Amino acid sequence: RAKESGRNSYHLYSEILHHELNQRMELMKRLRNAVEHDKLRVYYQPKVDMQSRRIIGAEALVRWQESDGQIIGPDQFIPIAEDTGLIIPISEFVLKTACKQLAAWHTLGFTELTMAVNLSGKQLQSPGLIEHIMEVVNESGIPPNKLELELTEQVFIENIQSHTNFMHAVRDRGIALAIDDFGIGYSSLSYLKHFPVTALKIDRSFVQDLPNDKDDATLTQTIINLAKSLEIDLVAEGVETEAQVDFLLDRDCSVGQGYLFSRPIPAHEFTQLLDDYQGQIPIQIM
Ligand code: C2E
Ligand code: MG
Ligand code: MG
Ligand code: MG
Repeated sequence: RAKESGRNSYHLYSEILHHELNQRMELMKRLRNAVEHDKLRVYYQPKVDMQSRRIIGAEALVRWQESDGQIIGPDQFIPIAEDTGLIIPISEFVLKTACKQLAAWHTLGFTELTMAVNLSGKQLQSPGLIEHIMEVVNESGIPPNKLELELTEQVFIENIQSHTNFMHAVRDRGIALAIDDFGIGYSSLSYLKHFPVTALKIDRSFVQDLPNDKDDATLTQTIINLAKSLEIDLVAEGVETEAQVDFLLDRDCSVGQGYLFSRPIPAHEFTQLLDDYQGQIPIQIM
């Protein structure tokens, strides 16, 4: 009997694997089709100076919009895009779209706005990446120092020589370089001094339970101190409440991003936000 149920559970297991594999293949096919048929969209989330409530920049966040209007978030397809190499055309599209959009906002008079674009570690292995980025930047006409590239902590920790070379090439051209999701990766912080980083983005898991969670309060304070002593800019991710704003402002962390100010939105809505309030988000409507 035991043998029998063992065989059955093996059978069940392989069936599940088979099913998952099929689903993955299906998703891959759909994603490739989406890339080829212009189903990708770029949404923008404002980065806000929390004291003045001014929008100082945007982060470009990719979406996949199905023909029926359904929006699929990046967490559901970036991993598979990395495995299949589709990350390359996807990233090219996001970078081009975001740089053009920033140029348009600069033309409208919002000349100080910056644009952040996420890069995945996988991309850093593709040769000629920095040249490609500069081509896109130059074509769009934006000043390189208004572009910021975001890399997750993992990429820094891997400490691969080509990554380090890439980061220096980025800084040499005046492009800003941020560590995304900071604090959730590793405990060793010594790597920070080896990289030409211009900003840390405090992961939203720390911000979420502020100000009440003592541990998160301590950790956030520590990250703030670290950034200050290294003279690196700070952005708090996932700001959702006024109490979080108060906590962060009290500790001299002035830039935030989160649903309190706005969710990621299509370009025309972002333009509306800029137009309506001249880039200033009034407290009362939020
Ligand atoms: P991320 O770069 O850390 O982006 C922030 C994520 O947090 C976004 O999720 C955003 O919608 C979400 N978020 C912002 N404010 C709040 C808030 O107040 N509360 C909560 N709960 N969430 C908030 P999204 O757009 O789903 O993106 C997820 C991740 O996918 C991004 O994390 C980034 O790592 C990756 N990603 C997005 N676009 C691209 C891209 O073009 N290229 C690459 N390589 N990765 C991308
Ligand atoms: Mg990011
Ligand atoms: Mg993040
Ligand atoms: Mg993230």
